[in-house]
Amino acid sequence: MIPALMPTYNRADLAFVRGEGAVLWTEDGRRFLDFGGGIATSSLGHGHPHLVKAIADQAAKVIHVSNLYRIPQAETLAARHVANSFADSVFFCNSGAEANEGMVKAVRRYHWANGRPERWRMICFEGAFHGRTLAMISATGNPKYLEGFGPPVDGFDHVPFGDMNAVRAAIGKETAGIMVEPVQGEGGVRPASLRFLRELRAACDEYGLLLALDEVQTGMGRSGRLWAHEWAGIEPDVMSAAKGIGGGFPLGAVFAKEHVAKHLKPGTHGTTYGGSPLACAAGNAVLDVILSHGFLPRVDRVARHLWRALLDLQARHPEVIEEVRGAGLLLGLKLREGIANTAAQDAAAAEGLLTVAAGQNVLRLAPPLIITEEEADEAVHLLGRVCLRLHPSSAQRAAK
Ligand SMILES: *Cc1c(COP(=O)(O)O)cnc(C)c1O
Repeated sequence: MIPALMPTYNRADLAFVRGEGAVLWTEDGRRFLDFGGGIATSSLGHGHPHLVKAIADQAAKVIHVSNLYRIPQAETLAARHVANSFADSVFFCNSGAEANEGMVKAVRRYHWANGRPERWRMICFEGAFHGRTLAMISATGNPKYLEGFGPPVDGFDHVPFGDMNAVRAAIGKETAGIMVEPVQGEGGVRPASLRFLRELRAACDEYGLLLALDEVQTGMGRSGRLWAHEWAGIEPDVMSAAKGIGGGFPLGAVFAKEHVAKHLKPGTHGTTYGGSPLACAAGNAVLDVILSHGFLPRVDRVARHLWRALLDLQARHPEVIEEVRGAGLLLGLKLREGIANTAAQDAAAAEGLLTVAAGQNVLRLAPPLIITEEEADEAVHLLGRVCLRLHPSSAQRAAK
């Protein structure tokens, strides 16, 4: 018989009942170091006192009122994001896919309002992931996510990631913008080069297109800067955010420059839950911590420490690890052919380490941003044991 909880996931047989920082415990008391971070979402880790208190205090006052009324928590959160990003205005919603839908609507509306309604197509990239709604599985373009769900939603043209010639060749009369992740997360923790991001910005400027960044996974400090595109020294016209911005509370956002945002007039776009007092209280609490003095430089330091330790791990286990890649605390171990990332994920769990599989046979690490260097070392130590499990000949060599 079908489970009451619809079986759309391959879940590990683990149920966590408590968390503190980067550690989770199961009911029977087993301890796990969480380097999956709830898929790059638990940015402050588990049970962060400031976030817990903000949510509890706000829940006791008022949880939801709808967007028929002013929401001071949302006004504050938007103003703070505007003060700390390229954006002039922010729209709140509830998930990454919903933020991307809003972002694409904003891009199309911009051209429509500027008398170019024929510009409505987005250039997207092979290996992308933009979410699971009908339009976003098309933007994602992966046949695995499209199969059985009818004709793909039109308006998304895919080119190879990092290939500027292909981008230029794909620009046509109907092109409205370019949609890209600064680091492809689900697709295999593949960073765009900073040069590629700058060239995309230049191409958008040249052809009057909008640059739409999907920072759902890379944003909110994960790269060591608040937004990953800051490393490239560019600004998008519009950007989506979710995952880490609520620290685990569902919160998504569309960030936009004024020239885009001004066309989303009252009645053009909306969502019932979006930007509720409770969600924005969570968002403000996360921002308090991430903007606090020294927090992001610390993320950058710990990330570099982890990166070096992973390179060292790779040098010790070249039969298992082909490449270390990523940015900040979004890192991936590309595994050798024949060693499945799902097997590595299971082996890591058996060692007490939580990770997330990603595309291209990559084992992804996206720990909470609050991890210490000691926790990074512990994770790499456990990954060393995983390598021995996966490739016994590494064990023999280590014994010699
Ligand atoms: C997770 C993710 C999404 C989808 O977010 P949901 O909250 O699951 O809808 C979109 N884009 C990127 C880059 C993501 O990593």
